Amino acid sequence: MANESDESVNESHNTNRSAAICGGGGFIGGHLAGDLLDKGYRHVRCIDIKPLGEWYQVHGDAENVVADLNGKQAAFDAVKGCDVVYNLACNMGGMGFIENNKGLCMISVLINTHLLMAAREYAVKRFFYASSACVYNADKQKNKALDVYLKEEDAYPAMPEDGYGWEKLFSERMCRHFREDFHVPTRVARFHNVYGPHGTFEGGREKAPAAICRKVLEAKLTGKHEIEIWGDGLQTRSFMYISDCLKGMYKITDSNTWHDPINLGSSEGVSINQLVDIVEDIAGVKLKRRYNPDAPKGVNGRNSDNTLIKKVFGWEPNTRLRDGMERTYRWIHDQLVPRYRGNSAAVVEAAH
Ligand code: NAD
Repeated sequence: MANESDESVNESHNTNRSAAICGGGGFIGGHLAGDLLDKGYRHVRCIDIKPLGEWYQVHGDAENVVADLNGKQAAFDAVKGCDVVYNLACNMGGMGFIENNKGLCMISVLINTHLLMAAREYAVKRFFYASSACVYNADKQKNKALDVYLKEEDAYPAMPEDGYGWEKLFSERMCRHFREDFHVPTRVARFHNVYGPHGTFEGGREKAPAAICRKVLEAKLTGKHEIEIWGDGLQTRSFMYISDCLKGMYKITDSNTWHDPINLGSSEGVSINQLVDIVEDIAGVKLKRRYNPDAPKGVNGRNSDNTLIKKVFGWEPNTRLRDGMERTYRWIHDQLVPRYRGNSAAVVEAAH
């Protein structure tokens, strides 16, 4: 197997292209659109079902389309004229959402199906599909130790996260068969928890890093120094900062040698309790912890085995969790503080 080093991939990154970012109003899509525009992409089309006012980022230089990509025509319109398609669109959220909305999660199969059909019709140069660590067999994730590293082959025999994970695994499989049978150049990354600024931090779809930043900030702002933690806080995860996610996506999308699903995640494991420690430290506060055993908590332990990505690309996500969390905390801080403007004492406290 050829090793695509950092340099060789970056040099070959052709920016004279047009890209469709499906789910462009979402967290990762918003960052991707900004970055492709900065790189000088000829045309960037962002498509999302949400009204424009609800997009996390709206880039004036992009073509911004509000459409439901479950529909065949919308998917074909989205892809037409684009060299590269990034499929980041799906109905998703943190554990609180996916454990309670399995049917909704599975309907997203229509998005990838129609986009693949369009990619075949218009002979796109690359089709990127955002899969997830939720495809991994649940039996391999029962242990709470920090060393539950999931390798690509651990997805089979199949027993993924119910609903969301099954949809991802099926869609991965569909990418493979469209590549093998119809020569659609599909590439698939299995993201492990991505976090950063400009994402969901409230409302029920937020994931642990943003949720914990918000809870710690709210505790500071209200002066009620306690925090609710879902489960016993011993469950382990790894979290990848958004800039690493984009870097990895480019490498995987541009690769000429690797097309199978590959892990894209940080291998810096952390328990939820340790993540709370980090945020408390950033915020300069110590909170009383209340554990909620009945809240959705997902699998016990999960980390990204990065042997393959290091072998293929000579690289792995490497932003330190503490550094990425600091940037995320600052952004959520700037969103929340204006809401407490009337309460100047709280704002003064939160600023420290
Ligand atoms: P996100 O929810 O912020 O973005 C997804 C976007 O898709 C949303 O803006 C949503 O409105 C849009 N969408 C949903 N249904 C649509 C439809 N029918 N038509 C058009 N748009 C539709 O999520 P994200 O964090 O940016 O994730 C992007 C992709 O990465 C998703 O496929 C997700 O499953 C995958 N992923 C993300 C993570 C993570 O930690 N963020 C982890 C694993 C996998």
